[in-house]
Amino acid sequence: MADPMSADSFLQALRDEGLTVVEVGDWRNHNRNHKGPFGPLHGVMIHHTVTSGSARTVEICRAGYEDLPGPLCHGVITKDGRVHLVGYGRANHAGLGDDDVLRAVIAETALPPDNEANTDGNRHFYGFECENLGDGEDPWPAVQLEAIERAAAALCRHHGWDERSVIGHLEWQPGKVDPRGFTMASMRARIHDRLTGGSTPTPPTQEDDMPVWTTGSVTPGPQPTVALPPHGDAWNAASHRRLHLGMDAIGTPPATATVRVAIHNGTSWRVSEVDLSAAGGIVDVAMTAADVKVSLLTESVGVAYAIESW
Ligand SMILES: [Zn+2]
Repeated sequence: MADPMSADSFLQALRDEGLTVVEVGDWRNHNRNHKGPFGPLHGVMIHHTVTSGSARTVEICRAGYEDLPGPLCHGVITKDGRVHLVGYGRANHAGLGDDDVLRAVIAETALPPDNEANTDGNRHFYGFECENLGDGEDPWPAVQLEAIERAAAALCRHHGWDERSVIGHLEWQPGKVDPRGFTMASMRARIHDRLTGGSTPTPPTQEDDMPVWTTGSVTPGPQPTVALPPHGDAWNAASHRRLHLGMDAIGTPPATATVRVAIHNGTSWRVSEVDLSAAGGIVDVAMTAADVKVSLLTESVGVAYAIESW
């Protein structure tokens, strides 16, 4: 948790990280603060614009659209690697996202699936829109990716955050796909390297308390979906497992749904029915460290699952 940086220190932090910063209009006072709070700040969110042309992209992010007024972010990172500051304060970039994701960002732990839209993200995230068509084919120039890395690292450095405080819009809000064309895992690895002076990130080992997540979604229908948590020698030491279930529906989900959960411990199945409610968020199902397989069946609504192992 952190108070927002001042506009001046925001600008300075970006410059100190080696970025070329362009100040656009009265960016310091262009915001949506009259619509709600800005802060406390918990992280940095990365987006793609689905636009082309740097000048046009910057102007859209500054002014916004008729039904989505600007600013649409704080900084626009164009393909040439420059950061254009278009607003400061509350900006229309993050929308409603998942409170479980916010908790994970605050704790700087692995992200759960984003299957709820119940939390104001514009209040809690710095936002960078990055010029790209978002079609998976429009290239991301090296200089632009480096600018994303530097911009996110600059804010993490100021606040004392690590790379897990940087997320993509797609990790926050159900239905969002941005940024597309690089993975947030790869970007976080770069930010980690930058913040730690170039050391190579080491993968978590079984000695770490960091949970490993096996995540996915289940389509409604007659066929079960089977998920395998990590197992084998490396995981003999995993002492805990937990299954998290939540509705995964865009739009208006049904109020309640039942999921058939079957858990296999290597010898036999145990079967239960779990009731999910749209209002109730995530339901946790106990597992044991010996459980090696989970089968999920839902008839009425998509379900997101995460198996946490630690
Ligand atoms: Zn976005």
